[in-house]
Amino acid sequence: MEKIVSLCKRRGFIFQSSEIYGGINGFWDYGPLGAELRKNIRDCWWNDMVRRRDDIVGLESSIIMHPKVWEASGHVAGFNDPMVDCKVSKQRFRADQLFFARVEIIPEASAETTHSDPSTQTIGYVVALESDRTDEELREKAIELKRKKSIRGQLAPIVALDFTQAKPEEITLIPSPATGEPGSLTAPRAFNMMLQTHVGALRDESAIAYLRPETAQGMFADFKAIVDTGRVKVPFGIAQIGKSFRNEITPRNFIFRSREFEQMEMEYFISDQDDWMKWHRYWIDWCRDWLISVGIPAAQISEYNHPKEKLSHYSKGTTDLMFQYPFGTQELWGIAARGNYDLSQHSRFSGTSMEYFDEASKRKYIPHVIEPAVGVDRILLAILCGAYTEDEAPDEKGKMESRVVLRFAPRIAPIKAAIFPLLKNKPELVAKAKAVRDLLRPHLTVFYDEAGAIGRRYRRQDEIGTPFCLTIDFETLGEKGDDLKDTVTLRDRDSMKQERVKVSELLPFLLSKVC
Ligand code: ATP
Repeated sequence: MEKIVSLCKRRGFIFQSSEIYGGINGFWDYGPLGAELRKNIRDCWWNDMVRRRDDIVGLESSIIMHPKVWEASGHVAGFNDPMVDCKVSKQRFRADQLFFARVEIIPEASAETTHSDPSTQTIGYVVALESDRTDEELREKAIELKRKKSIRGQLAPIVALDFTQAKPEEITLIPSPATGEPGSLTAPRAFNMMLQTHVGALRDESAIAYLRPETAQGMFADFKAIVDTGRVKVPFGIAQIGKSFRNEITPRNFIFRSREFEQMEMEYFISDQDDWMKWHRYWIDWCRDWLISVGIPAAQISEYNHPKEKLSHYSKGTTDLMFQYPFGTQELWGIAARGNYDLSQHSRFSGTSMEYFDEASKRKYIPHVIEPAVGVDRILLAILCGAYTEDEAPDEKGKMESRVVLRFAPRIAPIKAAIFPLLKNKPELVAKAKAVRDLLRPHLTVFYDEAGAIGRRYRRQDEIGTPFCLTIDFETLGEKGDDLKDTVTLRDRDSMKQERVKVSELLPFLLSKVC
């Protein structure tokens, strides 16, 4: 991970935001190459998700919406709980749903002593999440702890307390429910993850608005407006790409979890009588195939099905596509079957019916929805991690030296082709190279470079993932015969093979590789 972070900084992919002022935690800037890479990710997704399909339309809704939207969606109430983070597993728990108990032993000599007696000995803590077995679970864990520690004496009665009742000195002693080990839980903090602002001249309660924590609510709030334009029929989808903001308690792992990030979300509306499982599977497979199409190695993608008991009450099923990042296997893309919860909530809160009228059956109903939701930044990080390779390449004299290569899929690479005149002090070579650049530039992102030895120029392009390098040499000028006149050396980044290609064939060749 360190190598990737330093490459990103060195070559202008990603910088810390406001670095000259010491940075601001959870915010990142994308430099010249990062901006290109992001744009390519967005464009590929938009083309595949919206433009190349008949059943999905696009939307760009505002970042700040009516505050009632977030009441209806559950974000105002839902994000207000005291939260506890496990620093090791990165899991977050509602403090009032996390129970712990002191495990106390009554010394053998005083068998009559009770829990609060000062002569009891505390041997550790146990923890359990809220369920209908919380007390039993705590007791079983206490017995197990006593057995492990081979402590004699009688167990004092177990008293379950929720985490908001933990004393400051106890917090580091209570094990995390995720790891079973103490020391990783944070103190509970009342927390609403939505970033607030004020709209208008007043600064009072009535002016509070939120920066959206997800783009999805734009699709639900505009559902009726889009249906009324008459272009869509269930099943259909609304897709959006845009910035979202969450005041994450602990932003971490480079751009994986930040406070300002960009989402690509799509709400796919289906009939309430349709087979939601079929559509859920369809979208999981679509998302997986798409990740592979932008160069993410299939072997590093896995599926995680959220257990039924952890789903929100309205959710029918959620599957995450996970990626094996260097810091662990983590959620990349969530595909959730959300029933008709969101549209029903907006009907209730706004008083506007979100029912859909089905012409064929003459029936009105609130559609159900399947939501694939992904972050551009998490995809970008997965692409970088999947592409980073170190191998060996010959230098000018044929001696092998190590090289760093970003094996980006050509369709996603920030620069598609680099163009080099063999020598920069030969005006004919420079003029011809610039002519090739001008030929390609209207169609592809290309980069002209005349500085340094050719091997070094290749190496620089390998490191930023440029799939093709074109060298204009004396053969191109026809100095070695007419056969090779107007041909260039095309070098492939991955195989390092070189071949001669006619200038007139360059554009169709490159376009066939990068689209
Ligand atoms: P996590 O559990 O990692 O916080 P989440 O389940 O809250 O994520 P969703 O609300 O389902 O995430 O958001 C959909 C997608 O948006 C995620 O799969 C992820 O790709 C992206 N995303 C969410 N939060 C962040 C963040 N803080 N930084 C970057 N991307 C994010």
